[in-house]
Amino acid sequence: MTDTINCCGTSEPICPHCGRQQRDGWEMQDGKNYDCEECEKPFRLNVEHCPVYSTEKVCDPGKHLWEIKDTWKELIPGKDRIDFKCKLCGEFRSEFIDSKAGEIKK
Ligand SMILES: [Zn+2]
Ligand SMILES: [Zn+2]
Repeated sequence: MTDTINCCGTSEPICPHCGRQQRDGWEMQDGKNYDCEECEKPFRLNVEHCPVYSTEKVCDPGKHLWEIKDTWKELIPGKDRIDFKCKLCGEFRSEFIDSKAGEIKK
């Protein structure tokens, strides 16, 4: 038996003494001591950050099929912004060009 309870996957902290979920978890802070709402025994809250990963395929560098999604005229003085989105993988990029440059070179 260890002194820590893994709260990963629960949205509320759980008292290590009695197992009761604490209602005010959202206003509790990492590394601080609290008294249980139920049994009133003290515990320290450790906030575990549980990253969630997901992956998707993207194009090889330089192999994107860019398509213009949006153009922003004079977004900053003298510059237009063009937003591109890759037709194949959905990758997004934007580029600033001089407003006077006229047509965009592909
Ligand atoms: Zn308790
Ligand atoms: Zn792509």
